[in-house]
Amino acid sequence: MTRSILIIDDSQQVRSEMKDALEKAGLFDAFYEAGDGIKGFRMMLTSPPDLVICDLMMPDFDGFKFLRLKTARHDFDNIPVLIVTGRDNVNDKIRGLEEGAQDYVLKPFNPLEFVARVKSHLRIKILQDELKHVNEKLETLSNTDALTELYNRRYFMNILKSEFERSKRYSRALSLLMIDIDFFKSINDRCGHLAGDKVLIMVSRVLKTGLRKIDTCSRYGGDEFITMLPETEMAGALSVANRYLGQMHEQDIFDFCDGLQEVTLSIGLVCLPDESIKTMDDLLTRVDDALYKAKNGGRNRVAVSRGPG
Ligand code: GH3
Ligand code: MG
Repeated sequence: MTRSILIIDDSQQVRSEMKDALEKAGLFDAFYEAGDGIKGFRMMLTSPPDLVICDLMMPDFDGFKFLRLKTARHDFDNIPVLIVTGRDNVNDKIRGLEEGAQDYVLKPFNPLEFVARVKSHLRIKILQDELKHVNEKLETLSNTDALTELYNRRYFMNILKSEFERSKRYSRALSLLMIDIDFFKSINDRCGHLAGDKVLIMVSRVLKTGLRKIDTCSRYGGDEFITMLPETEMAGALSVANRYLGQMHEQDIFDFCDGLQEVTLSIGLVCLPDESIKTMDDLLTRVDDALYKAKNGGRNRVAVSRGPG
């Protein structure tokens, strides 16, 4: 992991002294320098550093203006700023801290104290980055089905809620495919649970292949999946469903289990807008009914929910 620091000061000499002290301490791999606040901010946009040292008094664009720009950008919240200020300037010190700086460095500075302060803020920054990373990982894990790595039902219900509301409010098209593996229990019984798991993974791969970025496929439960297709009308959704059936036909499944001939899917389809669908429960009931129709109609097929009347 490379570490970088941005030093903003109008004095070339001060920048060099700071850089020398920090280079000796070996805390950073890259040093960026800027002669005023706006140049420093531009530099931060292109190469966000791990820490910023910023002089307060600079001609044209001072440290306070820099702090204001930085505070407005929440993606920079985790980058600490140490302001550089004179010993007798208590008011500037306070104002700098109030405007978002984490700490201050007194000028003229003691190199050992300066390095120690930078080091302690860098340590906090690194810990915060690690925490953020772990939190992101945890969030992904809590939204993901462990076996298939598709979204899980909980996450799906959340995004369905917002897509459903959006579709109702603006009369936008939204299609839902409920997909269930045919005779999956007998695959488990004949080939074992592990082979069953491999079938679930293979089906998941088929279901997510070729979807657009805005589409989502999730494992709804056991051998049941849901693909949600925003901004998609009946014809588009039918072509996705038929593509699924065709792709399943082409899967090489002999590895899973001797004697397993084919794995097929039954698919229920419902499309919005539909006046008779008032709630999310209506929507899920209707797509479930359509799936039931596909099963009863002989499996390995798509059935469309047309609504009452
Ligand atoms: P149908 O054609 O009507 O859909 O019949 P089916 O046998 O597929 O339906 P059923 O709902 O009876 O069977 C689903 C089976 O899926 C039952 C359950 O033991 C199995 N199952 C659920 N989760 C998993 C899993 O994670 N791994 C494996 N291998 N099997 C699972
Ligand atoms: Mg099934």
